Amino acid sequence: MSEVLMDMQNLTKYFTLDTDFLGRPVTVLKAVDGVSFRIEKGEAFGLVGESGCGKTTLGKIIVNLYSPTSGKIFFEGKELTALKEEQRRSYCKDIQMIFQDPYASLNPKMTIGDIIAEPIIINRLLPKSQVEERVIYLLNCVGLARHQRNRYPHEFSGGQRQRVGIARALAVEPKLIVCDEPVSALDVSIQAQVLNLLDDLQDEFGLTYLFIAHGLNVVKHISDRVGVMYLGKLVEIAPKRELYANPLHPYTQALLSAIPVINPEKKKERIILQGDVPSPINPPAGCRFCSRCFKEMDQCKLNVPVFKEVSPNHWVACHLFD
Ligand code: SF4
Repeated sequence: MSEVLMDMQNLTKYFTLDTDFLGRPVTVLKAVDGVSFRIEKGEAFGLVGESGCGKTTLGKIIVNLYSPTSGKIFFEGKELTALKEEQRRSYCKDIQMIFQDPYASLNPKMTIGDIIAEPIIINRLLPKSQVEERVIYLLNCVGLARHQRNRYPHEFSGGQRQRVGIARALAVEPKLIVCDEPVSALDVSIQAQVLNLLDDLQDEFGLTYLFIAHGLNVVKHISDRVGVMYLGKLVEIAPKRELYANPLHPYTQALLSAIPVINPEKKKERIILQGDVPSPINPPAGCRFCSRCFKEMDQCKLNVPVFKEVSPNHWVACHLFD
């Protein structure tokens, strides 16, 4: 039986953009709107969706960069959302984040060695005399050489900088790493190397990943289960093989149809979605996907579809499965 590491229940994150003269919110952006799912210990959970769907906001809630507007988060059975901010911060060490832009997330004035050493020193994980040895070990783990610890971020390529970001995340021996589009800023040739590195490190350190990405092709290799988000809501979750072989939600079907096929004999029809993603300030009243759905029915505009398990471990929010 798998063990749940993190359990999110009905999470929302609303940003107030404008208030009236009494300070009451009048324009509210619903970035995350009632999201529930679990991340199991040792798994890689891929979270996919277009820009603005709320996946990065959700990642930032998990690493405590944002507080949720409502909902509960449990980590190893402990309710983080019931803790005071100071107590919650003590869990930050266990939940780390790797950012999309490795250059923006590394202090340009610090050497690579100091960047990796900093969280070890702040969290008092080792005596000072052992920190350098640990930094060299971590550099080695991510495929960098010990002499590179005296260099600065600008002296490294994009792929190498992402390796530094990974080493810094590993430095505090986290249990969960939120990887926020960690390869989308890298050349295609480098992307596979970084993905393979993350895969190897997961086995070596027994890590759990929440892997956030724009498209289903990126998470295919690394994920055990995949969740698809649209306009602040989860629309489908399934084990990887099941999701790629049998996508149920029309949005997932459209995302999958966009992945290029290498074998020309296996031609598939591309589903082109019409229109743009509606604004999260004023989302459609019923199913959020109804303005772009090619299977829309009468009730879709009126009723919000319930997120339910339609076959073992396969969850979907769509009236086609009512
Ligand atoms: Fe399409 Fe209706 Fe399903 Fe929404 S509920 S995805 S509009 S068929």
